Amino acid sequence: MPRYDFRCRSCGATFELRRTMAQANDPAVCPQGHEDTVKLLSTVAVTGAASGSAPRQAPSGGGGGGCCGGGCCG
Ligand SMILES: [Zn+2]
Repeated sequence: MPRYDFRCRSCGATFELRRTMAQANDPAVCPQGHEDTVKLLSTVAVTGAASGSAPRQAPSGGGGGGCCGGGCCG
């Protein structure tokens, strides 16, 4: 389930909620109980990017070298 970041305009707090995409645009209530919140653009992991122009993010499975493959690692 994707995560969405919100910011409360009443107290300035930022918080995140896990909700379905169908509920993405529903109003969120601040942990302090304020309802004047705005949804922030966050790094939501979009699975199966249907719409283009999304930067492809390579799954980092560990190691973290990144220079292997060219023979530079050994
Ligand atoms: Zn608030």
